[in-house]
Amino acid sequence: TGRGMTLSDIAARWARVTPEAEFLVDAGTGERRTYARSDDRITRLANALVAEGVEPGDRVAVLGLNSADLLEAYVAVLRAGAICVPVNFRLVAKEVAYALTDSGAVVAIADTATAALLRDALPDAPGVRRTITIGDDLEEVLETADPTYRELAIPDEATAFIMYTSGTTGAPKGAMLTHRNLFLHAFSSTMHMGGPGGPGVWLSGTPLFHIAGVAGFLPSLFAGGTTVIPPSTGFDPDATLAVLEREKVTACFFVPAQWAALCTRVGARERDLSALRKASWGAAPASDTLLRTMIETFPDAEIVTSFGQTECSPVTTTLRGEDAVRKIGSVGTPMINVEVRIVDDDMKDVAPGEVGEIVYRGPLVMSGYWNKPDETAEAFRGGWFHSGDLVREDPDGYYYVVDRKKDMIISGGENIYCAEVENVLAGHPQVADVALIGVPDERWGETPLAVIVPTDPADPPTAEAIDEHCREHLARYKRPRRITIVDALPRNATGKVQKTVLRERASAAG
Ligand code: ATP
Repeated sequence: TGRGMTLSDIAARWARVTPEAEFLVDAGTGERRTYARSDDRITRLANALVAEGVEPGDRVAVLGLNSADLLEAYVAVLRAGAICVPVNFRLVAKEVAYALTDSGAVVAIADTATAALLRDALPDAPGVRRTITIGDDLEEVLETADPTYRELAIPDEATAFIMYTSGTTGAPKGAMLTHRNLFLHAFSSTMHMGGPGGPGVWLSGTPLFHIAGVAGFLPSLFAGGTTVIPPSTGFDPDATLAVLEREKVTACFFVPAQWAALCTRVGARERDLSALRKASWGAAPASDTLLRTMIETFPDAEIVTSFGQTECSPVTTTLRGEDAVRKIGSVGTPMINVEVRIVDDDMKDVAPGEVGEIVYRGPLVMSGYWNKPDETAEAFRGGWFHSGDLVREDPDGYYYVVDRKKDMIISGGENIYCAEVENVLAGHPQVADVALIGVPDERWGETPLAVIVPTDPADPPTAEAIDEHCREHLARYKRPRRITIVDALPRNATGKVQKTVLRERASAAG
């Protein structure tokens, strides 16, 4: 059996060993919960789900803004032996219904902010037999539930979470992550980033429905640490800095767009953030300019890079703080528990230093996409999981992400890797944010277009100024032929630029 390797048992263990240690701090409501208190709530909700007829392997959907209750609900679903299906709260009702029916959820848990959204989705999701709303409804369920903890013998290979990837291509796919996948994620992440120092205080800065949220709190739970949950109604950099200081946060994760916002705050340098040891980032590319600003703004913290993918539980490479300057722009070296290759379209290893697709194998990689055998077979062709990310490895074994395969631009037969060009453009003082896309061109097939957010909207850079700047750094074919000035770039929940949206806009504009 998988005794000890199931995620929900970890909380129960700490509830026995350090019952009075703080497990969750809800910075939104101000509530603080010890391991003993949270664990009792988790057991009760798990037992209530079982009493509802939820059986091992059944799916329970959880929809809501970040909160201590939401995080407890995740663990409770696992303790019931069921599979937790986090649902993005920014979806519309039809999309929520898709997640509910595709996963075959039998119970759905929502919070007061998302209860109406869930209600609107239910007519299209007849499989959901019962809903529970965080708040009075949940408290009533907990009060009447059986408080007896029962350890379930769930095999390690059992699916713990079905995580829907944001699906910028085709219908969203549910990546099945097993208890073992996530257990080993927590293990390798602790090994690569942890070291002695005891249980810390983790700030969960990204939405819990995303893998960065789930994978973020697990190492903290494993160490018996505290997880602080800021309110997730819009990212407020000032409030976040205040929470970092007040709660003496020792480690946190934000996506590059959030770090950019945090760095612009004058308060960032004035606050006492001496407790902060690890400031980690990932999920989307960051420019060298932003990384330097982070290093200057948070001089006492180690800047840690994570790179990976939902399907890999999710971190596959890390760059440690000691290398942050020396190897700026690199996503680091592969984690333990994952095998990595860089291959061409025929699955042959590329020559050293060449760009290829990074593919993965080993215990961090998902078991497959839920109910999607064809997509699973396609993703695992040749026995390796295909990431769609183009990378190169330097002679010291450090990896650099150059683009996503679907975003790479081919102009006159030459490959243009967006990260390189975006990085150069981000170094221009009049550029606050930038994305490069390919637009159709009769002569060259595609040419690069730079979509630029100016530092000062009243003084945007001219196409000539941009070209002048690029001339020093980039070969002619890589230089943007045109620029477009915008107020902001369209980004998804994890701060990735939605290039499909930019390409559609460019083609509509002609
Ligand atoms: P979709 O199907 O919509 O594309 P997604 O692939 O964006 O979903 P995620 O698993 O959240 O879903 O994103 C993983 C991707 O994020 C990676 O494949 C990579 O392109 C990008 N990424 C993650 N971390 C980094 C990083 N540190 N630097 C650059 N890119 C990163």
